[in-house]
Amino acid sequence: MKAHDGMYIDGAWRPAAGRDAIEVVNPADEQVIATVPAGTAEDVDAAVRAARAALPGWAATPPAERAARLTALRDVLVARKDEIAETVTAELGSPLAFSQAVHAGVPIAVAGSYADLAATYAFEEKVGNSTVHHEPVGVVGAITPWNYPLHQIVAKAAPALAAGCTIVLKPAEDTPLTAQLFAEAAHEAGIPAGVLNLVTGLGPVAGQALAEHPDVDLVSFTGSTAVGRRIGATAGAAVKRVALELGGKSANVILPSADLARAVNVGVANVMSNSGQTCSAWTRMLVHRDQYDEAVELAATAAAKYGDRIGPVVNAKQRARVRGYIEKGIAEGARLVAGGPEAPCEKGYFVSPTVFADVTPDMTVAQEEIFGPVLSILRYDDEDDALRIANGTVYGLAGAVWAADETEAVAFARRMDTGQVDINGGRFNPLAPFGGYKQSGVGRELGAHGLTEYLQTKSLQF
Ligand code: NAP
Ligand code: MG
Repeated sequence: MKAHDGMYIDGAWRPAAGRDAIEVVNPADEQVIATVPAGTAEDVDAAVRAARAALPGWAATPPAERAARLTALRDVLVARKDEIAETVTAELGSPLAFSQAVHAGVPIAVAGSYADLAATYAFEEKVGNSTVHHEPVGVVGAITPWNYPLHQIVAKAAPALAAGCTIVLKPAEDTPLTAQLFAEAAHEAGIPAGVLNLVTGLGPVAGQALAEHPDVDLVSFTGSTAVGRRIGATAGAAVKRVALELGGKSANVILPSADLARAVNVGVANVMSNSGQTCSAWTRMLVHRDQYDEAVELAATAAAKYGDRIGPVVNAKQRARVRGYIEKGIAEGARLVAGGPEAPCEKGYFVSPTVFADVTPDMTVAQEEIFGPVLSILRYDDEDDALRIANGTVYGLAGAVWAADETEAVAFARRMDTGQVDINGGRFNPLAPFGGYKQSGVGRELGAHGLTEYLQTKSLQF
C-alpha cells in the first residue's frame, strides 16, 4: 500500500527526526503492507510548534470560512471513499462492505455535521449585561485508537476545526495509513498549513510526548483505561483540559415483553460487528430466567451463522488477549455455546464468534472489556435484578433496552448509569452526544456537545 515516509507538519510531508519505522500488517493474512516512520518527541515538538503558530490565524478565521473548509473536507472524503475503505480493510482487517458503510461512511456524516455546526453555532451569546464568546481552547493533542481508525480521528478533528482549534494527531500504530490518508484529505480540502498535523508513532513514545507537551492545551484520547488514566493524571497535574473515551461493558437488556428473537439477533450482530472491537458494543445480554434457554439457543445459532464472515481482530496481541478471556470464561464456569478459544484458520488473527451462557455478574467475562467477538448471556429474576446487573460494572458507555412498549423501555433506560441507550434497536445518530458515565470516560464527542469540548468561554460585561 501507498505510505508517506514522513510526518505531515505545517502543511507538508517532512522527514522524521529519527530513523525508526513501524511495519503495518494486514491482520487477515499477516503480511507487511507498508512501513511508516515512528515519530519521536522531536517530531511531536515540531508539530506542536506548527499548530501553535497556526492557531491565531485559524481561530480568527470566520466560522463560515471554517465551515467551508469542513465542507470541502467532507467532499474529499466522499470522493476518496473507496480508497478509504480499502485502506481500513488492509490495515484493520474488517470486511470491505463494512469498511465502505461504516469506516468510510460514518466519518463523512460526522465531517458534514461539523460543517453545518460551524456555520450555525452561536459562538457569541448575550447573558444579561454580558456577551459571552465561545473561543477555541487552543492546540489539541488527539490520540486515537485503531478500532474505528477514521471515525475516531474525524470525531476529534472535525469539531476541533469547527471550534477554531489547531491539532496534532497521533494515530494508533496499527492503523497509520488511514491517518495519512486523512492528512492528505485535509490538505486537499485547503485546511491551512499547521492547522492539522500528523505524527505517526508508538504510544509510549510519540503519544506520551504529545500528552505531556506543555504547549498542548487539550488532550483528547480514545483507547484503553490504563493509558487513559495516565493521560488524565498528566493533564490534571498540568491543569489542562482532557477528554477520555475509555470503552465499556454495555448491557443489552431484554425485558420479558420484548420481541425476543429480534432483540437477540440484533444483539448478536451488534457484538460481532467489527469483530467485537467496538467500545460501545452490548457485550452483556441480560435475559429473564423464563426466556433464558430460548435466548441462548437463538444467540448460539445466530453466532454460528457469522462463521468467518467477521474479519480478524487487529493484531496478534489482541488475538491472544481475546483468546485468554475465552479460556478464563471456561475456567470460571461459563458454558460455551458457540465458538471457543481455538484459531478458526491458520493464517490471520481470527477469533471464532463466541457465546457464553450461564455467565454470572462477578465473572471476568461479565466485568472486563474483551474487545473481541465474545458475548456473555446473563440471567435475571426481575427488573430490579436486571438493573443491578446492568449497572454492576465500572463502565457506563452504552446499552440497549427492548420491550413491547417504548415507555416501558424508556423507564428502564433512565435508570441505567450509562451515556447512550438504544431503545428497541434505535439507529445510530451522528449528532447525539457520545461518551461515558463512570470509568467509561470524561467528556462527550459528536454533535453540538462534541463541539463544546473544544471551546472555552470569555464573558464581557457591559
Ligand atoms: P491503547 O494502547 O490505549 O491505544 C490507544 C492510543 O493510545 C494509541 O494511539 C496508542 O498508541 C496510544 N498510547 C499507548 N500508550 C500511550 C501512552 N503511554 N501515552 C500516550 N498514548 C499512548 O489501546 P490498545 O493497546 O491499542 O488496546 C488495548 C485495549 O484497549 C483493547 O483491548 C480495548 O479493551 C481497549 N481499547 C478501547 C478503545 C475504545 O474505543 N475505547 C479503542 C481501542 C482499544 P499505540 O497504537 O502505539 O499503542
Ligand atoms: Mg497499545
